[in-house]
Amino acid sequence: MDYKNLAQTYKTPLYVYDFDYIQTRYLTLKNAFNARKSLICYAVKANSNLSVLKHLANLGAGFDCVSIGEVKRALLAGANKYQIIFSGVGKRDDELKDALESDILMINLESEAEMKRLEIIAKDLGKKARISIRINPDVDAKTHPYISTGLNENKFGVDINTGKKMYIYAKNSEYLDPVGVHFHIGSQITELSPIIEAAGILAEFVRELKAIEIDIKFFDVGGGIGVIYDNEKEIDTYDYAQGILSKLNGLDVTVVCEPGRFIVANAGVLLTSVLYEKFNKQKRFVMVDAAMNDLIRPSLYEAFHGVELVGKSKDESSCDIVGPICESGDFLAKNVMLPACESGDIIVVKSVGAYGFAMSGNYNTRGRAAEVAVSGGEHRLIRKRESFEDVVALELEFMK
Ligand SMILES: *Cc1c(COP(=O)(O)O)cnc(C)c1O
Repeated sequence: MDYKNLAQTYKTPLYVYDFDYIQTRYLTLKNAFNARKSLICYAVKANSNLSVLKHLANLGAGFDCVSIGEVKRALLAGANKYQIIFSGVGKRDDELKDALESDILMINLESEAEMKRLEIIAKDLGKKARISIRINPDVDAKTHPYISTGLNENKFGVDINTGKKMYIYAKNSEYLDPVGVHFHIGSQITELSPIIEAAGILAEFVRELKAIEIDIKFFDVGGGIGVIYDNEKEIDTYDYAQGILSKLNGLDVTVVCEPGRFIVANAGVLLTSVLYEKFNKQKRFVMVDAAMNDLIRPSLYEAFHGVELVGKSKDESSCDIVGPICESGDFLAKNVMLPACESGDIIVVKSVGAYGFAMSGNYNTRGRAAEVAVSGGEHRLIRKRESFEDVVALELEFMK
């Protein structure tokens, strides 16, 4: 990819996504489940740009949404409403109402209280709500504690006994239709065994439910498949699918999978321009025009992103790549090797397609970066750079 040209054309900081790679990743996962009925519901929160969603909708993907805003985004992008799932640990009444009115595939519930709320809302609307319940299988996903969600100490889902009570309640309700089970034990998972273990626990649970005539049709294994940022080992998609399917013997269910990072992380780079270099005592800093408001993963999770200086490779020395924001936590990379940089040089920050732009903000009154899609050698702007006027547009007149 001609990063220099893209940076010149669209300016920096700039997010660039490889749409061909996104397609390959989606199809790889979809094909791994060939032996069964399956539905790949892309987790919108990883990268919610409408063009990304539309690209995936065109390939036949469904969508996993964690707010009504994401449901609306998926619908706007042309998703099939019967392929949209609404998850999330605390949904408001108006969100549940809108979701029911949109007639999406199902709503993933995370507590008994939420189920009772939904029942009341469904009754008011005269609708029967298709639901699934997020079961917390108490399995350690062996990932960063901030992105681990499948242990009993986490806020997510309900334990299996509470879950069973909820399914029985739902089956007897006129306004609830329990059609799915759901688990999601964490993100950036690089070991297969916790996912298979969770699938085994949930498959047994589904057999128990079927025995009492609760007919589960969707077996949702969540997302969380890890990707390579540095030297991680990636889970093989075939082993992943086979491992899950091996637990489903005798169960007539559609496997639902909710990958976010797996589909988009390695499709994206962030291009940023060098402002200048500076040395404090022994330490070398490369100041760039992207900052933690553009990419917060290094500050928030101590995440590693590979970096590269475009067009230069000689005389590398160690440095920190830092942004202009007034926080010590404002860095994109620490102790990385880079050649001597000059003002205007372009640095590529890699693997930022997931939880990159989506987590960006306006701290320090910085407009958010532009986004570009690349496919078959062509490039096109898919989100404009935010101007100062965009950033202040919603603030009400303060001096009358
Ligand atoms: C965040 C999330 C996902 C996607 O996680 P990835 O690690 O990006 O694959 C899937 N399902 C649920 C319920 C989530 O909260």
